[in-house]
Amino acid sequence: MQEPIKHEGPGDHIMVIVAHPDDAEFMKAGSVAKWIGEGRKVSYLLCTSGDKGTSDPAMTPDKMGPVRQAEQRAACAVLGVEEVVFLGYPDGLLVNSLDLRRDISREIRRLKPSAVLTEDPTWRYIGQEYINHPDHRAAGDAALDAVFPSARDYHVYPDLIAEGLLPHKVPHVYLSAGPGDANVHIDISEVMDIKIKALHEHKSQMNGRTADDPEAGDFVRMLGKYMAGDSGMEYAEAFKYFKLD
Ligand SMILES: [Zn+2]
Repeated sequence: MQEPIKHEGPGDHIMVIVAHPDDAEFMKAGSVAKWIGEGRKVSYLLCTSGDKGTSDPAMTPDKMGPVRQAEQRAACAVLGVEEVVFLGYPDGLLVNSLDLRRDISREIRRLKPSAVLTEDPTWRYIGQEYINHPDHRAAGDAALDAVFPSARDYHVYPDLIAEGLLPHKVPHVYLSAGPGDANVHIDISEVMDIKIKALHEHKSQMNGRTADDPEAGDFVRMLGKYMAGDSGMEYAEAFKYFKLD
């Protein structure tokens, strides 16, 4: 039987790749806050600007996109994330296209992260009451395809070479996973308040609730407990971790 992969940690620069503003805050922001607190650098890459994230017919995608970008930047300021890039693909229609893969590869080559933190593209549904958003799966698929082989191999993108962007190998990859699928749990108990505050910067998605609301953290704590599984941690985020040679 194969030995379990040893978790070596994310290195000094973590790049978070997600579909929408708030995706990272739900599933990854505790780890982000913890790693930044340890002196590591974190950058965000968002495939869309979440511009369809409203049921209000008067709030058009043109108006919604900038609102959600500003909310994401505010959440990143709470966490201490240094750089936030929006690729601007249309919300709700994201597919793992060659254009998306190239655009993610470009940012990986430019930022040279030691770790990529993204979605699990195989996560189709949970139980019988939750279907994962197709944009989340597309973002995870495109990010993995960019990590291997597209950002890594010299001849895949002559246009990126012409831009001066040489290949970059990402050694550590983390996919957000349920506790049963995870091989790494990150203990976020100490940074739970920061995660709650960052999530509530996404005001348009919070039904008017702010971080000061006494019940604001209930769901985030419940999620943290669920993700901790039987790890023995109070609150955790759970990942499938890969160490690439
Ligand atoms: Zn989302």
